Amino acid sequence: MINKQWNLETKGDPLGTVNSFLQAVWNAIGLQGLILPSMAQNKLRVIDKISDLHEINPFQPLMIMNIAGLVPKVLADHPDGRYGILLRPCELRALNEVEKRLKIDTNRLVTICVDCLGTFPDDDFQWRSDRKDSEDGMTKEALQFAPQGGIAAYRFRAACQMCTAPGASNGDINLSVLGIPVRQVILVNGKQDLFGWVNISDGPAETSLVNKREVLLAKMIERHSQTRDRVLHGLIEVLPDDVDKLLDQFEDCGNCQDCMKACPICQTKAPRRNSDGRFQKQDVMDWLVDCAGCGMCEQNCPRHMPLSIIFTHIKKNLEESLPV
Ligand code: SF4
Ligand code: SF4
Ligand code: SF4
Repeated sequence: MINKQWNLETKGDPLGTVNSFLQAVWNAIGLQGLILPSMAQNKLRVIDKISDLHEINPFQPLMIMNIAGLVPKVLADHPDGRYGILLRPCELRALNEVEKRLKIDTNRLVTICVDCLGTFPDDDFQWRSDRKDSEDGMTKEALQFAPQGGIAAYRFRAACQMCTAPGASNGDINLSVLGIPVRQVILVNGKQDLFGWVNISDGPAETSLVNKREVLLAKMIERHSQTRDRVLHGLIEVLPDDVDKLLDQFEDCGNCQDCMKACPICQTKAPRRNSDGRFQKQDVMDWLVDCAGCGMCEQNCPRHMPLSIIFTHIKKNLEESLPV
C-alpha cells in the first residue's frame, strides 16, 4: 500500500537532495546496490558502493535505452540481497510487462520511480549540452522548468511528446518534481512498510503542493493526448493501422530488426518468423499489446519510421478489439 506524500526539503539543491535521500533509503532498507542505466547502449550499471550514489542523475533529459529488458539478467548475475532500481515511468511499465512475460521474481527489487521531465533525441541533447557548456546545464534547465512540466517540449522525442503517463506513481518509492518548486522541496511517497517515512523525510507534504502536481499532470496528459491525436490525424492515410499492414511494412525492412533489439518487451521474446520470412502475426500482436510507449524502437530505427505513433495506434486498435 502506498502511503501519503512526504517532503524532502532541497535548500536550492534538488539533485543533491535526491542523492542524499537515496543514501538514506539504501541504509534504511539495507540495499546491496542500485541498478540504473549506463550511458552505453544496452548496458546496465550496478552501483555497489553507497559512496558512488553522488554520481547519479535521474533528471537528465536523455534516455539512451529502456533498462527493463536487462533486469532478468542482472538479477541472475546478482542472486542474493535486495537491489534498488531507478526507473522512468515508461521503464517501470516495461518492467511490469517483463515480469509478467518471464514470470521472474522481482521481490528483491525496490523500484524507485522518478517523475519524468521528458527527454531529447540524443543528437539534440548533445547539441544543446554543448551550447550550455555541460550535461549538468541540461539537468539544471530541466529542473528549473519542472514547475511548468518541462521546457521546449516540442523538441522532445516523439514518444515523450505523446506520453500520457509521465508521473511516477507505481514504484515502491516515487519521487515527484512535476509542478513542484524543486529548489525548495521535492515530494516522495512509497510503500508504508518499507521504512519509517517520518525519519527519512522532512515531514508530511502540504496538500496544496500535492494538488499542484495533480493539476499539472492532468494538463500534461491532456496536451500529450492532443499531440498524439494531431500526429495520428496527419499520418492516418499512410500509417499501417493494423498488424497485417505492419507485417507488410516489416517485409520492406529486410533483416534490420533494430526496433526489436532496442525494445525491452522484445528482449524477453522477439517475434519469430514463419518459413516464408514473414513475422508471426500472434507474436507481433503480443508484443504491441505489452508496449510501454518508451519510444526506444523509434530512436533506433535507421529509416526514421514514426514507430511511436504507429505502435500506439495499433496497440489501441488491438485493445479495443480484445474481448472485455
Ligand atoms: S515516454 Fe514518458 S516516461 Fe518515457 S522518457 Fe518520455 S516522457 Fe519520460
Ligand atoms: S515497442 Fe517501442 S515504445 Fe513499445 S516498449 Fe518497445 S521500444 Fe518501447
Ligand atoms: S528499426 Fe525500422 S527499419 Fe529496422 S525493422 Fe524496425 S521499422 Fe524496420
